[in-house]
Amino acid sequence: VLRATGIWKAFGEREVLRGVDVELAAHEVVALIGASGSGKSTLLRCLNLLEPIDDGQIFLGDEDISDPRVNANRIRARLGAVFQSYNLFPHLSVLDNVTLATRVVHRTGKRQAEERALALLERVGLADKARDHPDRLSGGQQQRAAIVRAIATDPEVLLLDEITSALDPELVGEVLELVRQLAAEGTTILMATHEMAFARDVAHRVVFLDAGTIVEEGPPADVFRAPREARTRAFLSRFT
Ligand code: ATP
Ligand code: MG
Repeated sequence: VLRATGIWKAFGEREVLRGVDVELAAHEVVALIGASGSGKSTLLRCLNLLEPIDDGQIFLGDEDISDPRVNANRIRARLGAVFQSYNLFPHLSVLDNVTLATRVVHRTGKRQAEERALALLERVGLADKARDHPDRLSGGQQQRAAIVRAIATDPEVLLLDEITSALDPELVGEVLELVRQLAAEGTTILMATHEMAFARDVAHRVVFLDAGTIVEEGPPADVFRAPREARTRAFLSRFT
């Protein structure tokens, strides 16, 4: 469903992505791992058209979304994204956060959008928070609401960027559990994560990014148990 080839991205003199190829099949869950500064967030932002790329192509389905003529907002509606923090609009209720995109992008009526949003919030145990503003929710509840908002438009791919790294440890589990459920339901997911145990459990494939290039990728059982590349071994050794 999503395929990027030869992605180059520099900020000034600094080359952050150096010819990255990455592909996601339908229903595939891919974990993007790598040291701080390796380019994970930049890659996700490029895929989501939040950053222009210097070279390469990105296809969503058959469409070349890296073509500068495409309407980025229309594409972003097909890619759900959740970041580390500040995902929800603080001035809107949880319910309005969740329904906003569906109502604007898909022109869904207010009642229909709210019914669906409430059903999704119910599912993640947040129905009673629907009318509250985000600052009344815990960090874990906010991230679950942000995930609900991202999936409310039925995106083709869900891009998750270290969605638990700003959370207190006791709140991490509830957010990961929701991602685990979405993965089990067949949601196509690309997630940058430092949660190696979670990546090992849930991802179908692990991609290791180092200094803007993909050094190694494969099933988690292979990459974690028997990394082929010295750089992967060095990175993973920090987690054991
Ligand atoms: P982390 O694990 O800490 O989240 P990351 O792998 O997500 O790291 P990126 O955020 O993609 O790394 O950053 C890669 C490099 O690009 C870093 O050196 C960073 O300083 C640089 N960078 C990212 N965004 C910008 C920007 N808008 N302007 C200039 N440099 C940037
Ligand atoms: Mg990052």
